[in-house]
Amino acid sequence: MKTYSSLKEIQRDLYKNIISCENLVENYLENISQNKELNAFIEVYDVEAILSAKKIDLKIQNNTAGSLAGLIIGIKDNICYKNHKSTASSRILEGFKSPYSATVIERLLKEDAIILGRLNCDEFAMGSSNENSIYGPAKNPIDTSFVPGGSSGGSAVAVGADLCHATLGTDTGGSIRQPASFCGVVGLKPTYGLVSRHGLIAFASSFDQIGPITKCIEDAREIMSVISGKDDFDSTCVGKNVFSKKTKNKKKWTFGIIKQAIDFPEINLEVKTHFLDFLNQIEKRGHTINYINLPLLEHLTPAYYIMTTAEASSNLSRYDGIKYGHQQPSNNLEELIIKTRTLGFGKEVKRRIMLGTFVLSSGYYDAYYKKAQKVRRLIKQETEDILKKNDYILLPTTPNLPFKLGEQPNLIQRYYEDVFTVQANLSGHPALSFPFFKAKKFPISAQLIGGYFSEPALLDTAMDLLKN
Ligand code: GLN
Repeated sequence: MKTYSSLKEIQRDLYKNIISCENLVENYLENISQNKELNAFIEVYDVEAILSAKKIDLKIQNNTAGSLAGLIIGIKDNICYKNHKSTASSRILEGFKSPYSATVIERLLKEDAIILGRLNCDEFAMGSSNENSIYGPAKNPIDTSFVPGGSSGGSAVAVGADLCHATLGTDTGGSIRQPASFCGVVGLKPTYGLVSRHGLIAFASSFDQIGPITKCIEDAREIMSVISGKDDFDSTCVGKNVFSKKTKNKKKWTFGIIKQAIDFPEINLEVKTHFLDFLNQIEKRGHTINYINLPLLEHLTPAYYIMTTAEASSNLSRYDGIKYGHQQPSNNLEELIIKTRTLGFGKEVKRRIMLGTFVLSSGYYDAYYKKAQKVRRLIKQETEDILKKNDYILLPTTPNLPFKLGEQPNLIQRYYEDVFTVQANLSGHPALSFPFFKAKKFPISAQLIGGYFSEPALLDTAMDLLKN
């Protein structure tokens, strides 16, 4: 079967009877079995997917199929799907089956998307390489000795290697955008509050957002228009139905370029050179490039790690061995909880629980958590100010290209890999990562940050930037 690059193309062939949903599912199942080494899917719903495909094929014949008919999608292992396992790639949730589906899942199914399986990720979405997973690392499809990025590593690999057509990932500090960039695909972190988090296994609730990873920008729009919007199960989901209106997008834009990002000391030379070339091309097409100062940039990563570990330490306290998943047998309750948590959580998760507990503890709260909150308020304000004077902020998605599996042992250095992505999570703005250049081996991606709930225009603009 040919490799489809957009849902539109798939639907064209489906409605012309050239292919069927069943053919599509069979084709992806074959790709998955031929690419086991990538370790992207940790469970495939093969029988179910074929059954759904048959039903949707009938609907297509009767012209009653939903808007996502033909979309074969994989979901990150931290998004709950009724009567299916969800483990956040952690031992502590071993065997856990969700009694309900996340809102995003309900909405996808209602529009006749077919869920093909669950995808590998870093444990509780903590990481940037997909190496912190109980299932072992996912591998970069461009070169399997390299990491695919994380934490939504499996989600990016699956799209990059055509194991399904699109996936859902989650982004707390870059986990959709960074792996999308490492695997050469498109990833959108929506505005905080545009997509319901109901049914998402929480990492840091005031940062987490679910979003699509796709082969093209158009598909991100198709998926977003289905999954976004008000949800009574998530009070932070504010219900703007931004995709229902036709937006008029102007054609000449001003892009704010953060000087401190371009001059970031650890930025890879290849990334910097090609990004500057990209800016040149943009300028030649009549847009304005506006260099801006953001001295706060260096404080964003520390603030992000203080606040997210604090929230994680609270969110993960529910895993006590009693309510969900894994339980370590013991003689008394305290021992049961201690043993379950000691054996159930991996090293990185434990580190973050301890860090988070520390920054929230009395005596340290003011010095760390409160200070980080102030940085968050400032970056929100500064980002809004920048976006008043510029249509968008444009920067590379990551300072570096993919690294080899098992490399980069320095933890601080690894945390600093998130330096360009955490801004949008701290401030809540939408951010899209899209590949703009195919370098020697790995593609290089840019990140476009826009105003709150500006997703339709943001996606249009990025599409326009990619036109030759
Ligand atoms: N790499 C970041 C972290 O480890 C991002 C995680 C995420 O977005 N889920 O926290």
